[in-house]
Amino acid sequence: MIDYKKLAAIGVQKLSPYIPGKPISELEREMGISNIIKLASNENPLGSSPLAMKAMADVLGEIELYPDGNGFALKKALASKHDVEMDCITLGNGSNDVLVLLAEAFLTPELNAVYSQYSFAVYPIAIQAVGAVHKQIPAMSWETDSPLGHDLDAMLAAIDDRTRLVFVANPNNPTGNHLSEKELKGFISKIPEDVIVIVDEAYLEYSSKDEQVNASLWLKKFPNLVVTRTFSKAYGLAGLRVGYALSNPDIANVINRIRQPFNVNTLALIAAEHAIGDKEFLEKSLIENAQGLKILEQTCNNLDLRFVPSKGNFLLIDFEKEAAPIYMELLKRGIITRPVANYGLNTCLRITIGTQEQMQRLDKAMEQVCG
Ligand code: PMP
Repeated sequence: MIDYKKLAAIGVQKLSPYIPGKPISELEREMGISNIIKLASNENPLGSSPLAMKAMADVLGEIELYPDGNGFALKKALASKHDVEMDCITLGNGSNDVLVLLAEAFLTPELNAVYSQYSFAVYPIAIQAVGAVHKQIPAMSWETDSPLGHDLDAMLAAIDDRTRLVFVANPNNPTGNHLSEKELKGFISKIPEDVIVIVDEAYLEYSSKDEQVNASLWLKKFPNLVVTRTFSKAYGLAGLRVGYALSNPDIANVINRIRQPFNVNTLALIAAEHAIGDKEFLEKSLIENAQGLKILEQTCNNLDLRFVPSKGNFLLIDFEKEAAPIYMELLKRGIITRPVANYGLNTCLRITIGTQEQMQRLDKAMEQVCG
């Protein structure tokens, strides 16, 4: 029998697949329980924008046709939202798609990309898949002002003449911490112009307006900046897979050369376009998140558990002992959380902020399991 793994590209042979949150249907099958809540993938507990759902219903009769490969209507709405030209926008099948396209377009086995420990798991996968060198920079320690956050000085020091990409998640997943405007802008300004900095803002909407660090406002100042955003979180469209990158048009042009012609489907395009305008749904989602986050922080304080202060729709909690049994106990109670042992955080769980009601149920379960 041929060892097909050995036939794979070297970078691919070394990869471990991304581990997603457990689906509700899987837990139903495995444990035969119902009334399950999934707090494992940072999805929106309020569902999706009603305006987006109505818009999708209106195009269901058109799905025998290919989508608009240029995504004109969505790009027009995004250009207006961000006050950029349409040729600065690259649409993706989720922002994950755009991250992978950036790695495919700009990296080769001779080059490297820099990212932080405890940052989004897709970065090293995307980098290694193209055979490039991934430079994971140790994160800040728990005892600092930015527990488990990016060590920007160390990241800067790691950039060499073979570095082509730098990934920064702000706010970061799975930790939830964020960089201030001063920190992030100072960091980008020190990066050579031939190194592309990707600021991943998948969770940006969840910060309060005065704390939001919107790097897309600096696109004119930094030609090597790429900002990625998603409709999967605050806009509640994770199942449709739609995200985008904002960059200078030259970078967008490069990514477009390898983008699949129809990488964003018809339903995703129309839903995203209408979700942008649904301010009411977005506002409701942010308020619910802020309230749910408070409940979960209180739960942790009651149980004397430390956590990373979060600017996202999730909280990284440290149980200071093996977290796998706690994960299992919560599963038995119908609550799916996210183990993060794959990040080397085996004493932690990452828990998505659900509705206030779900957070009350989690509070009771955690009291039983950890109290
Ligand atoms: N960036 C970060 C930091 C994320 O946490 C995620 C999803 N978990 C993504 C990007 C990708 O999201 P999507 O592909 O759904 O846009």
